[in-house]
Amino acid sequence: MIGAYETACYYFDEAARLMGLTSNMQKLLVTPEREVKVQVALELDNGTIGTFIGYRIQHNSARGPMKGGLRYHHEVDADEVLALATLMTWKTAVVNIPYGGAKGGIAVNVRDLSTGELERVTRKFIDAIHDVIGPDKDIPAPDMGTNAQTMAWIMNQYQKYHGYNPACVTGKPVELHGAEGREEATGRGVVTLTAAFLKKLKHDIAGTTVAIQGFGNVGSHAAKFLLERGAKIVAISDQFGGVFAAEGLDIDALKLHVSKNGGVAGFPGAESIANDELLAVETDVLIPAAIGGVFNAQTARDVRAKYIIEAANNPTDPEADKIFAQRDIAVLPDILANAGGVTASYFEWVQNRQHFRWELSRVRQELDKILEESFEKIWKIATDKKVSLRTAAYLIGIGRVGRATVLGGI
Ligand code: NAD
Repeated sequence: MIGAYETACYYFDEAARLMGLTSNMQKLLVTPEREVKVQVALELDNGTIGTFIGYRIQHNSARGPMKGGLRYHHEVDADEVLALATLMTWKTAVVNIPYGGAKGGIAVNVRDLSTGELERVTRKFIDAIHDVIGPDKDIPAPDMGTNAQTMAWIMNQYQKYHGYNPACVTGKPVELHGAEGREEATGRGVVTLTAAFLKKLKHDIAGTTVAIQGFGNVGSHAAKFLLERGAKIVAISDQFGGVFAAEGLDIDALKLHVSKNGGVAGFPGAESIANDELLAVETDVLIPAAIGGVFNAQTARDVRAKYIIEAANNPTDPEADKIFAQRDIAVLPDILANAGGVTASYFEWVQNRQHFRWELSRVRQELDKILEESFEKIWKIATDKKVSLRTAAYLIGIGRVGRATVLGGI
């Protein structure tokens, strides 16, 4: 079993070797600038004390303030947060937005806490880290288990210490300095990039069959935009189970079912499948959009999709990556595939700083432009250098961070 940070370093090392980076430079670029681990203690609704561990890891600021999501999940640990922080550094560089990379999380199961408890957890966490975040230092955003409401609490708690400054966090509600189109952006970006990727492979997105693991923010918006482009979603799973329908799932009805029942399981008219069966469904496109580490030496052999779009962060370990390459399963890597979210977060930050609101059409247009241009660059490097899209994306990301580091000095 390969750990999350080991996986992230493996891909970094592979690209760094190809680039001929010196070992000193490699060490500088993988070493995080700051790792914060704090106690998050609060009074629970039943009067007892709950104690959780919160993390914020700031990996690299060579290209600008650090940026990355905040995850609430019971499996959050320092290794995973560090891995995700490094991915943010390469991701912001891949889409060439003026940020570095960071990530945070709290090891907590959101289902165990009431809304009031989640608010107190969030405020306590910000009490502990407010000095090291901020619009010019490190800007959190939503990730698994957090949403626009969480970001609103963060903004409010931050301003108690530092005054009004909505640019201190992105992914806020539209009614509270959030940007139109931010919530949908990661899923939309996944689909914009899937279409561009399939076009290169001479495969039309209309009529394509798709299986998606995860039906939260990213998975559900990806499903919506895929349907708009004529794709057929044949299977979806979440942490409680999965559903399959060869003729295609009715996504609006499934969303309604999830809002009433808390998960996709038991959706009328669909066959029930186990979560790991979803990864082995015969389909054109497979989209992991939940946790990391789902593809390993075992699960990769069972995959029957032709293409994998990594909407989730860090879903593929290096052994699985090799198996996919041997089996000619084309992979669109996470540091490009899910970069729509951070790109729209950048638009939100820009709007907050200018006190000027963009319309949804502008957000979508600028988002698609950045993603399509980034994809073209990565495709060209992959073709010219005969490397995978993942390696090509790392070559661009590391190259940009490396140049900024050399130019700025240390
Ligand atoms: P979310 O909390 O909104 O939804 C997560 C979904 O995954 C839920 O449907 C949940 O039931 C499911 N899930 C959780 N554990 C699972 C398991 N063990 N097996 C199968 N399904 C499971 O989270 P999200 O924001 O949609 O994020 C999903 C992925 O996308 C994460 O890897 C995240 O890092 C990545 N991502 C999110 C954003 C964003 O803007 N939200 C941006 C970039 C990348």
